[in-house]
Order: sequence, then structure tokens, then C-alpha cells
Amino acid sequence: SIMPATLSAISNGAKHGILFKGGVHLENLNHIKAIAFDKTGTLTKGKPEVTNVIVNNGLDENEVLLIAASIESHSNHPLASAIVNYAKKKLSARLIDPDGIEDVPGWGVKAVINKEEWKIGKAGFVEQAEADQIADLTVNKLQAEGKTVVYVQKGNQLAALIALKDIVREETKKAIDQLKAQGIYTIMLTGDSSSTAQAISSECHVDEYIAECLPENKVEYVKKLKEKYGNVAMVGDGINDAPALATANVGIAMGGGTDVALETADVVLMKNDLPRISEAIRLSQRMNKIV
Ligand code: ADP
Ligand code: MG
Repeated sequence: SIMPATLSAISNGAKHGILFKGGVHLENLNHIKAIAFDKTGTLTKGKPEVTNVIVNNGLDENEVLLIAASIESHSNHPLASAIVNYAKKKLSARLIDPDGIEDVPGWGVKAVINKEEWKIGKAGFVEQAEADQIADLTVNKLQAEGKTVVYVQKGNQLAALIALKDIVREETKKAIDQLKAQGIYTIMLTGDSSSTAQAISSECHVDEYIAECLPENKVEYVKKLKEKYGNVAMVGDGINDAPALATANVGIAMGGGTDVALETADVVLMKNDLPRISEAIRLSQRMNKIV
């Protein structure tokens, strides 16, 4: 049977937009020493926008953009939707139907158009046949601004760079500062590049970031954090985050997240409001004192 103090803490949480799926999670939250956060959609709004399109000499910008958008229209990654929306606004032409579409989660998409192979994704996904020093300089500069750079490769030639920026949620910094003041160590996990991750993590005030983190690696990192810190929470919103949410001692989902994340989590932040995590911890501390 459920203790009155637990019941009161759960209903108190519900009033403040924090859904606890059971008293045990309130107990576990009390012992949390570190919290890992997914970046896109959790610390950031998860709605990136195209900021720069840099097309290689000799190629037609509109044509490259049309091809990139046509291929990305077959992926449901937030970066893909952003590129499609940008192209639709900018171009009047209709999207092309590519062949041999292959969507590779955590890497990018490839397809064939007019018998030519195109690849769109992160550096490790395109071959970058000719090391392009001008491109490297441009990429470094864009990433230092916290932008994600997507490579567009035609055959074995770099055709374009597309930079996108995702906005950090207004309340993220405050949420992280509060947790740090409560003695909790904060870590950002992202599949993004190291320089982009560094820029975003310093904007968010998190103690540490892990970049180039493949979806399947998130679980490994949570396991490592558990070894190091004992009790660890994970906060996420995506399908990719679900296994890591299940691995953590307490899995916390953003209310606006995907169904799988919401189902897997132990705690749901109904209003996507990150500062509620501190509040949830305070609630759990008060409850555990009474119990
Ligand atoms: P995150 O959610 O942390 O951004 P993902 O694992 O979803 O990480 O993706 C990692 C990286 O792979 C992205 O930052 C991007 O560079 C690249 N990527 C993945 N999918 C796509 C796509 N459809 N189009 C372009 N780039 C992609
Ligand atoms: Mg996410």
C-alpha cells in the first residue's frame, strides 16, 4: 500500500506538471548524483533552422538545395525537416523522387539521383575524397557558433555545406544551475560534432559533454556514469533516448517527446519545463525525510 507522504508528493508533483509513474521513482530521485541530458529537443528546442548554405564553385545553388531537400524529405530527423522547409520556402520547383534511399540513423541519408550517388550527413558519413581545407576552415567557424554542419556529397565531391542552428531553451541554463547548486553533476550527450557540442554545452552550463555519441552509445555512457556516480538520471525526448532512459536509475522524458520516450520514462515533465527536475528532487527529499 502507498504511504500518505508518497501519495501527497505524487499529487504535489502532478499539480506542478511533474508526472511520477510510481512512488519508487520519488525514492530513487533522492539518491541521484548525476544527470545526463540528450541535446536536441531536450536542452534545445529541437527545431533547427538553416542559417547558411555554401555551395562549391561550379555547382548551381538552387539545384543542389533541391536535391538535398528531395533526399532529406525521406528522413524524419529534425535536421532533415529543417532543410526541406527551407528549400520549400526558397524554391518554387517541386521535389524530385530519388532512388535507393537509405536513411542511416545517427549519420545521414544517401540516395541516387540521375545515376549519381548523393550523401547528406555528418563528416564521418561522407567520404570527403579530397580533403578540402577551405571547407575545414568554414566548418570550424560555423561549429564554434554552435551550428550543426551537414555535408552534401555528390559522387566523391563535396557539393555543399548546410549549417543549421537549434536554439537552447530559455529555461535550460537556470535548470542546470539549480541542479549544480543541489550538488548534481550534469552531462550532455549528443551525436553532434565535438566543436558544436562544446559551444552548446557552454551555453547550457553543463559540466561535461560527450559528442559523436551514436544512438546505441547513449546506453553505454549511462552505464559508465552509473559505475562512476552510483545513481544516475537520464533526460530525453527521442525514440533514440528510450534505451538510455530505461538504463538510468530514473528516466525522465520531456512531455513533448515521442511516445516511446514517454512510455519508457519513470517521470514525465508535462510542460517540457526543465527547472521542474530540481523541484522533483526537492519533493523527493522532503518525502524521504517524512518517510
Ligand atoms: P542528435 O539528436 O544529438 O543531434 P543524431 O544521432 O540524431 O544526434 O545525429 C547525429 C548527427 O548525424 C547529426 O548531428 C547530423 O550531423 C547527422 N545526421 C543524422 N541524420 C541526418 C540527416 N537526416 N541529415 C543530415 N544529417 C544527419
Ligand atoms: Mg532529442
